[in-house]
Amino acid sequence: MDRFIATKKIGNTLIIEGEELQHIFAKRVKVGQELELFFEDKLYLCLLEKLTPKNALCIAIKELELTAPLPFITLYQCVPVELKTMDFIVEKVSEVGAFRLVPTLSRRSFQDIPTINKRMERWKRVALSAFKQCKRPRPLEIAPPTKLEELRADHDLNLLLDNFGREKNPKDLNLKGLKTVSLVVGPEGGFTRQESELLRERGFIPVKLYPYILRSETAALLGVGLIMNLSTPPQSTCQQ
Ligand code: SAH
Repeated sequence: MDRFIATKKIGNTLIIEGEELQHIFAKRVKVGQELELFFEDKLYLCLLEKLTPKNALCIAIKELELTAPLPFITLYQCVPVELKTMDFIVEKVSEVGAFRLVPTLSRRSFQDIPTINKRMERWKRVALSAFKQCKRPRPLEIAPPTKLEELRADHDLNLLLDNFGREKNPKDLNLKGLKTVSLVVGPEGGFTRQESELLRERGFIPVKLYPYILRSETAALLGVGLIMNLSTPPQSTCQQ
């Protein structure tokens, strides 16, 4: 079923305007058709009642339950120096099923917090758009930026994605019954030795995903995808 973002809600009526209305026209949605509409963290099953060039009026039939598949994956993504790469990461880890993304500042990452803060709205829009497209149960949460030194291994399983040494293979991890998993991914230049040691001392388990050196965005996408795939049946992730 097609999913859209509502602009307002008045009583039981949800209204779609602006750019989102163009998507309604592009998808040739017709009056009388059922839709899923997202508004203020809630998802509704609706019926399109009226469509004009100015707006679409939809009647809410019922609120849909927003349960997320386990495990809840938090991605601590060191912010790429090429800031635009973060748009790709937000979109792709949304699709493959991360629950929350925390833009993380490390020695070799993009450092400027005010600039990162300015990008937050954009990343939230990218996350919403991926949520619409892939039909995940709820949008990827984008948390406020944090510093790598502040990370704690406080999930059921805490992983440090690293391309050095003889780290564990994801297949060797016991993912049965886990509710929360965290993954830390370095920026383009990787972690410094001190950062890698600090995270290991804190209890993050180093994992090597692949024999090759991956780009940061590839590692994030593959890491989240593998954890989702190894720990949940495929049908409980994105549904078409
Ligand atoms: N410049 C670094 C590579 C950094 S790649 C170097 O020359 O070694 C960016 C990040 O992607 C890394 O810090 C790590 O978190 C992740 N990564 C890259 N390849 C990986 C692999 N094979 N397994 C796990 N993580 C990997």
